[in-house]
Amino acid sequence: MKLYNTLTKKIEEFIPNEEGKVKIYTCGPTVYHYAHIGNMRNYIGHDVLVRTLKYLGYDVTRAMNITDVGHLTSDSDSGEDKMEVAKKREGKTAYEIADFYTKAFFSDFDELNNLRPDIIEKATANIDMYIKMIQKLLDEDIAYISGGNVYFDISRVKNYYCLTNNSQEDKMVVGVREGVDFDNNKRNQADFALWFTTSKFENHEMLWDSPFGTGYPGWHIECSGISIKHLGEYLDIHGGGVDNIFPHHTNEIAQSEAYLGHKWCNYWFHNEHLLDDTGKMSKSNGEFLTVSLLKDKGYDPISFRFLCLNSHYRKQLLFSYEALNQAETTLKKLRNKIANIKDDGNFWEEVFKKYTESFKLALEQDLNTANAISILYDLLKDNEVNGHTKLELIKSFDQVLAVELIREKVEVEANEDILKLIEARNEARKKKDFELADSIRDDLYKKGIELIDTREGTTYKIVG
Ligand code: AMP
Ligand code: ZN
Repeated sequence: MKLYNTLTKKIEEFIPNEEGKVKIYTCGPTVYHYAHIGNMRNYIGHDVLVRTLKYLGYDVTRAMNITDVGHLTSDSDSGEDKMEVAKKREGKTAYEIADFYTKAFFSDFDELNNLRPDIIEKATANIDMYIKMIQKLLDEDIAYISGGNVYFDISRVKNYYCLTNNSQEDKMVVGVREGVDFDNNKRNQADFALWFTTSKFENHEMLWDSPFGTGYPGWHIECSGISIKHLGEYLDIHGGGVDNIFPHHTNEIAQSEAYLGHKWCNYWFHNEHLLDDTGKMSKSNGEFLTVSLLKDKGYDPISFRFLCLNSHYRKQLLFSYEALNQAETTLKKLRNKIANIKDDGNFWEEVFKKYTESFKLALEQDLNTANAISILYDLLKDNEVNGHTKLELIKSFDQVLAVELIREKVEVEANEDILKLIEARNEARKKKDFELADSIRDDLYKKGIELIDTREGTTYKIVG
């Protein structure tokens, strides 16, 4: 399997530490608000990676954190803890906020057919591990206490900027990167906080005793701590969205390797962003795009998954309702076509193997999901392959795509419902309400039903 590695900036052959086994860590959500569909694109990307590795026969163990403390409004050490911001917004406790948005997150996560990670850990449930790590870094003078907080001294590690190719050193320069304030507690301005004490925010709700003062962990130490505690000292793949490369993952590498005394993770996997018409999707910009909102608007969440799979995970993707409509229509047509396949004939092993190889090959090229989908189309067009073998192949492809290619009940409206809608459209046309008439036709088309106007009246056909 070939995978792009942000650490080497190359597409590389993936070789796990232990043959046949993969340990993978995904940065989880900050549960101060609903996750938007941009966040979800990132989790779909990770899900496809995990499903592909399983499809290829690897034994995969995956861990993910839930950030319920320590992520400040800026990714550096300025601003306020996002949980505190949400508390003020909603008049609840930080724990209530975390609980509510964690449930909301997994509800959307599941709707998209994402496999749940084997290990899901709240940041607040692993404080002992962060304290152990920070203590060791302090003992070795890699971390220092200043102004009540514990900071990591980036000058004590070689090649701190390894993930960004040393090209982003200026990112932490005060005044260049948004939200980076001058901090006179720091030896180097790019040093980052491992532990905040109440010196940072007096009324912080989530506090723990520690040898370095009552306080709470910084965001970066959470992921290193949870990963090392639950997956061990050697990690195969670690991932997140591209915005996590710097400073979050850069800091994770620095502190983990300083703590362990050896290389920690071999492959860094990053998903490009989903953008809306305002640029980077943000939890505060305009309409708040969530999976639940798409559902309320009548979309099937799996159509969004299908939309994501049609583009490469390392390319930016611009979200629009037109693109989502198109994806939904295409997926419905695909399902209708598959529903019409008769399960006849024997199982043809050679043909099964041939198509499986092509499908795998597409995925092995740095997860080329669009090419994998095109193999599915090739299969559907192939008149040489019998129905039974086709259906077996489709089932197996869907273990990776997870777009419910075979649904128990294909969503074709009952005949009488369609006839009623055709009548309503005719009425609308008589009243010259062409907007309504067109919307009835378009809605039916989205469901895989095409209306055909003839001189004798309107009929329909199932598309696909
Ligand atoms: P957060 O809840 O803000 O910690 O973000 C959760 C994950 O979503 C992180 O791994 C981010 O890198 C990722 N992410 C944030 N915004 C986007 C976006 N617009 N498109 C794709 N991924 C994103
Ligand atoms: Zn993380």
